[in-house]
Amino acid sequence: MSDEIDFKPVSGTVLPRFAGIPTFMRLPHLAPEKADAVDIGITGVPWDGGTTNRAGARHGPRQMRDMSTMMRNCHHVTGIMPFDLANCADLGDSPVNPIQLEDTLERVEGHFRKIHAKGILPLTAGGDHLISLPIMRAIADTSNPLGMVHFDAHTDTWDRYFGGAMYTHGTPFRRAIEEGLLDPKRTIQIGIRGGLYHPKDKEWGLAQGIRVVEIEEYFDLGPDKVAELAREIVGGGPAYISFDVDGMDPVYAPGTGTPEIGGYSTHDAQRMVRGLRGLDIVGADVVEVAPPFDPSGATALAGVTIMWEILCLMAEKVAHRKAG
Ligand code: MN
Ligand code: MN
Repeated sequence: MSDEIDFKPVSGTVLPRFAGIPTFMRLPHLAPEKADAVDIGITGVPWDGGTTNRAGARHGPRQMRDMSTMMRNCHHVTGIMPFDLANCADLGDSPVNPIQLEDTLERVEGHFRKIHAKGILPLTAGGDHLISLPIMRAIADTSNPLGMVHFDAHTDTWDRYFGGAMYTHGTPFRRAIEEGLLDPKRTIQIGIRGGLYHPKDKEWGLAQGIRVVEIEEYFDLGPDKVAELAREIVGGGPAYISFDVDGMDPVYAPGTGTPEIGGYSTHDAQRMVRGLRGLDIVGADVVEVAPPFDPSGATALAGVTIMWEILCLMAEKVAHRKAG
């Protein structure tokens, strides 16, 4: 039964990190159906059918699981020990259909509905950025939509691609706002840069009330002030964190489909996520790790370390909730 499960990760002082089956953070692997005692479910979405440029993020979850064996128990700055605060588990990968986009959106939504129905907070490894949309469909309450801290080089609020395609990794947050899942006035985008298709590309999101921190403003303010701003914008309501690894400079995260130079460092990304302490995080994802473009695994390590930073925040939230 679930109460017999040991939710502590396997320690690198007991079994070497390179040994054993690489589940996320070396946690127990459970099917969502058997995850009743789980507070935070880490899951992969191995799919990149929404990619408009270089594909490869379908391979992200597997390499991120491998690199996640580098994580330890205790956060080196905050002292948070997430595995003492919350029952965490690897809930496996979402079902996907690599040759059918609409079917994949339904399968992914179904996977996260199962998780959400058990009161489990999902922490997800993508996959391309379109996967955030079916996750939000599964967990958002349209009567109290999500706020979002969105780390990315791109706004992902474009409308259509290739004539009429509504669903790509460049459109998830336009769709999420249209569907009432996401509150644009409680949304902040951090690190936006790169060329546009049209000068008007910036207008839609700003008109909705999204707070866009372009990379120039980011470098003027610095990571701590930007995190403070993010907490102000998102406020006390339900919050989603979506971290596209291309928000970081390609020097730090080259393994991604749409790199843009001039981004923030891995360290600054860690500081910003750490600065989000106290938000009511109901779900999060780290997306666009594309291992074929980075055989070193450094991008997957960066991505999964950001997942660990987010996990610490989520576990603290779970602990507060349990304390009543
Ligand atoms: Mn993105
Ligand atoms: Mn991006």
